[in-house]
Amino acid sequence: MGGKDCDEYICSNDKEEQQLKEIFNKPSGLQGNSGGPTQIQSIMKEKPLNAIELGRSTWPLLHRLSLSYPQQPTEKDKEKAITLIQTFSKLYPCKICANDFQGELKKSPPALESREKFAIWMCEQHNIVNRKLGKPEFKCIMRRIELTHGTPQRKEWTSIL
Ligand SMILES: Cc1cc2nc3c(=O)[nH]c(=O)nc-3n(C[C@H](O)[C@H](O)[C@H](O)COP(=O)(O)OP(=O)(O)OC[C@H]3O[C@@H](n4cnc5c(N)ncnc54)[C@H](O)[C@@H]3O)c2cc1C
Repeated sequence: MGGKDCDEYICSNDKEEQQLKEIFNKPSGLQGNSGGPTQIQSIMKEKPLNAIELGRSTWPLLHRLSLSYPQQPTEKDKEKAITLIQTFSKLYPCKICANDFQGELKKSPPALESREKFAIWMCEQHNIVNRKLGKPEFKCIMRRIELTHGTPQRKEWTSIL
């Protein structure tokens, strides 16, 4: 995972690094609003996220997003969600993951009839990847998803689980 496939897509930071080097090499008075040398140096030391870190940052966003989907979506809401998921599956910056996700979308298109259906569908999609990677499966029930990825006031469910 990551490595070549990740670099080929948009994980590669070579261009950005070059741009930063150019800014950094300018005399301090010419650096404008781009930050001082210390800030730029620290940006350059950061590496782009690899596929694991990227996934770890992305799944919580996807789950949270499904939890904020309307309870009773309109046709417009459904359209927005399908566009988002399809576009995401094409642009996700880990090529192997994106290709795989596109295949899964064909087998099981997003369930957009309600918030619960969308949240559970997202959870199941995550489990499909978990299974492929030999990770434990998550119990895809709404309360459990909300407890893990929802807002802090949902903590009252801890005792039920
Ligand atoms: C769309 C997509 C496709 C991916 N495809 C691949 C791939 O093909 N190959 C690959 O190597 N990596 C892939 N990844 C990355 C991979 O899924 C993991 O994100 C990565 O391996 C880091 O795993 P992790 O164990 O830290 O936790 P993650 O799997 O990132 O999960 C983050 C947290 O979500 C919770 N969680 C776990 N499972 C579920 C679930 N089913 N529902 C709700 N919450 C859950 C847990 O609290 C967990 O700590 C993909 C990521 C995404 C977003």
